[in-house]
Amino acid sequence: MTANKLKAVRGMHDILPVNSGNWARMEAVIARVFSSYAYREIRMPIVEPTALFSRSIGEVTDIIEKEMYTFEDRNGESMSLRPEGTAGCVRACIEHSLLDTPRKLWYAGPMFRYERPQKGRQRQFHQVGAEAFGWQGAEIEAEMLLLNQRLWCELQLENGIRLQLNNIGSSESRKKFRAALLDYLEKYRDDLDADSQRRLQSNPLRILDSKDRDTQKILHDAPLLTDFVDDESRQKHDTLLGLLQDSGVSVEQNSRLVRGLDYYNDTVFEWVSDDLGAQATVCGGGRYDGLVEQLGGKPVPAVGFAMGLERLYMLLEGQGFACFHEDDAPDAYLLVADSAYQRYALDLAERLRAALPGFAIMQHLAAGSLKSQFKRADKSGARFALIVGEQEVADNSVSVKDLQSGEQSSVSVGDGIAALLVQLSADT
Ligand code: ATP
Ligand code: MG
Repeated sequence: MTANKLKAVRGMHDILPVNSGNWARMEAVIARVFSSYAYREIRMPIVEPTALFSRSIGEVTDIIEKEMYTFEDRNGESMSLRPEGTAGCVRACIEHSLLDTPRKLWYAGPMFRYERPQKGRQRQFHQVGAEAFGWQGAEIEAEMLLLNQRLWCELQLENGIRLQLNNIGSSESRKKFRAALLDYLEKYRDDLDADSQRRLQSNPLRILDSKDRDTQKILHDAPLLTDFVDDESRQKHDTLLGLLQDSGVSVEQNSRLVRGLDYYNDTVFEWVSDDLGAQATVCGGGRYDGLVEQLGGKPVPAVGFAMGLERLYMLLEGQGFACFHEDDAPDAYLLVADSAYQRYALDLAERLRAALPGFAIMQHLAAGSLKSQFKRADKSGARFALIVGEQEVADNSVSVKDLQSGEQSSVSVGDGIAALLVQLSADT
């Protein structure tokens, strides 16, 4: 392959400078919301032993059957790029004994699934997820959904995202439901799509997820999981519904919602948008009380969710990033009347950066007439042009031009410059 043919892997995308500012702002809002609910960040490796995922996500799921990036390392051990964050997070919590007390954690980062790339579906995508360990009652679920809703509000997306909720009960109830569902589907075996026929043996519940039209028609009259849920679980679900109602969170019950991973019990939910086309789910999660023990820890109740950042970004893009006010322009553009003054200018820029943390200075580091440099300064969107010429170098000063008002003054670098810039910035 010649060098000019090198391209990113299909389904994996660069986030370019035109977008990275808005990505960072979106991530900053998310981090702020998490911290206001006392969630702490955890960062896990991107590669984990394959067995971690197959043991937690479930052997007979799309992810494990066909979506994982799995390879042998040089030692012949099977490794996988993480397709989701919960398994690694639980692994880390057990490994570092983090679960002796209740704990709220969040994480963010790239996930990898070998899926068919399309709008809202990539092979490398980004998730932010949260896990709350050690809370049994419905209150933690309510608080988590309130956190989600607060995030949509802060991003000004609250009108476009709906909450769907279901109660899938205990594994005991699901066993009974499984038998009833099998009974029903056996009658239509030959009319099911190939994947679903295979799942009759391995994992009939996943047939509920089938996107095949004929299968969906058959499912229309299938028994409902809701009817198999035991009283205790039903009561907890009612408590949750009550809490959400009291807090003003609107809920749509969706009795077909089962979610793609095996480890959930009782509560499952998805936040969906009508503005995303076929890939409508922005965020999904639920309770998974059995997973910690299943992966070798003590039994600890747990609830979590993960949201897809590309889909969230698409929604923000759709409303013109209405919630963001900052822009990426530098605060000042530093230009020189002659390249002989670059040394002075470099030193000046350093002193300003030290005096004004966060004040962004773009120095013109190439040749060019003052006129063309001023053009660049205007184009950069900077508020100020800082000009260094013969006079400035001679008396250790700099000329400051306010590009908004056009006012220009010469300032001695020694003392007042930092204060002056702060004052000028505040005047806007
Ligand atoms: P979907 O129904 O869209 O396949 P899922 O049930 O596989 O989603 P989860 O594993 O619950 O999704 O992941 C949570 C969120 O991560 C999804 O709601 C979605 O926003 C995002 N997500 C999942 N897979 C992808 C992908 N391949 N590309 C982009 N985002 C994704
Ligand atoms: Mg999926």
